[in-house]
Amino acid sequence: MKTLFQSKKGNVRFKNRKKLQIIFLSIIGSIIIIIFILEIFIRLCPASPRTKLPTCKEIIDSYFADMQNISEVEKLNLMLRTFFPTKPFTLLNIDEIANNQVKQTERNKIGGANGISCGKIAFISSDLPYFAKKYVRLHEALHLVGIRNETLANYLAGFKEPLGLVQTVYVSLIPSTKKRIGIYSFPCYIGNVWKTFKTYFVFWKE
Ligand SMILES: [Zn+2]
Repeated sequence: MKTLFQSKKGNVRFKNRKKLQIIFLSIIGSIIIIIFILEIFIRLCPASPRTKLPTCKEIIDSYFADMQNISEVEKLNLMLRTFFPTKPFTLLNIDEIANNQVKQTERNKIGGANGISCGKIAFISSDLPYFAKKYVRLHEALHLVGIRNETLANYLAGFKEPLGLVQTVYVSLIPSTKKRIGIYSFPCYIGNVWKTFKTYFVFWKE
């Protein structure tokens, strides 16, 4: 009797394990299929024409040329402080770098991007909302201290400014949400959401 009971119990355990395996494989399979469909959506839908990014020289020149209300001496001082900071760049003084070396400028001057880093100085778009601005500022500061990988900079900045990351992703999605979502453009909208998600969170892109 005892052995029979034990084997029954074992059988149930085996069946449960098999059930779990099937559920697990179904979830993995569904995810793969969904990603595959999303990738098709991205490729079928016309990519929004990206404005050509201006060169760093163009951005820096226009940034300093725009300062009409400050004297030439002050302008020179600002340039010196920007390009030759007194403290070296490290991760420890990242907030200081973010506040001193990352400048705000108009979005059209940085080719419509949220932010651009140019060696020792970086620029962020002045129209970003509060938390997104903090996040993009930190992201660009991380580039200034030598973190080149976009996704890594996103995760590190997102760790410190999680609200900013959410707001930045949301803001990045607005242009596609503004277009009318018809039955035919819906796949393109979903594809665009997936593309934005990949831009921010996926290390492996293509
Ligand atoms: Zn970046």
